[in-house]
Amino acid sequence: MTKRSQETSRIIIALDYPDANQALAFTSKLNPAQCQVKVGKELFTRSGPQLVEHLTTQGFKVFLDLKFHDIPNTVARACLAAADLGVWMMNVHALGGLPMMVAAQEALAKMTSPPLLIAVTILTSINSDQLKQIGLSGTLEDNVLQLAQLTRRAGFNGVVCSGLEASMLRQTWGGEFLLVTPGIRPMGTLIEDQQRVLTPSKAISLGIDYLVIGRPITAAADPVAALEAIETEIKLAS
Ligand code: C5P
Repeated sequence: MTKRSQETSRIIIALDYPDANQALAFTSKLNPAQCQVKVGKELFTRSGPQLVEHLTTQGFKVFLDLKFHDIPNTVARACLAAADLGVWMMNVHALGGLPMMVAAQEALAKMTSPPLLIAVTILTSINSDQLKQIGLSGTLEDNVLQLAQLTRRAGFNGVVCSGLEASMLRQTWGGEFLLVTPGIRPMGTLIEDQQRVLTPSKAISLGIDYLVIGRPITAAADPVAALEAIETEIKLAS
């Protein structure tokens, strides 16, 4: 089971930019030792592996947020391809099932230093009506717990979860499973389209390991000052 590295910052900055130029203009302001960065579907689809390699060569730890979900063989091979880019963390959908997750984990386990492998359980955009519509029975919490349990059985390092789910998962398992959570808003920043938000200090008190933060840093007048203020809040809460 995985514990958070004590040397690593707990902040993952979401690089939600439409292209590499804008993403790199932003990361040029950052010290790669100060944070992790997340490359998601939009930026990856436009700017591809070259951008990820560029960031890793500059020393950034990259969370490649592509949420793979396919047959086991395809996902295992896609995970290896992502790992070859030198990413620090990557993810799949737990709804792809146990054999898919085991295939992904076993493929990466052959590497000397594999990336951290985490899973998304139920997307936080899904509500209980949609869960029924899809045909899943039980409550959202039941499904999140069930899928998180499968993720652990597959030998993964952790899950992406909401703040609400974090305390349930932390109570169930203690400290040896990474919890990665978006929807973080420091006091006084805009909530924007997020529904349920947590302050950085609340996230730390819930036992969340890594905080995925986008606009409170990327849209700040002084992103480095915003990042440092959040780091200070995290240190005080830790
Ligand atoms: O700008 P903001 O801090 O809201 O960005 C949060 C990041 O986390 C975005 O990249 C968003 O896609 C991602 N995310 C999220 N909620 C989820 C899963 C991912 O906000 N449930």
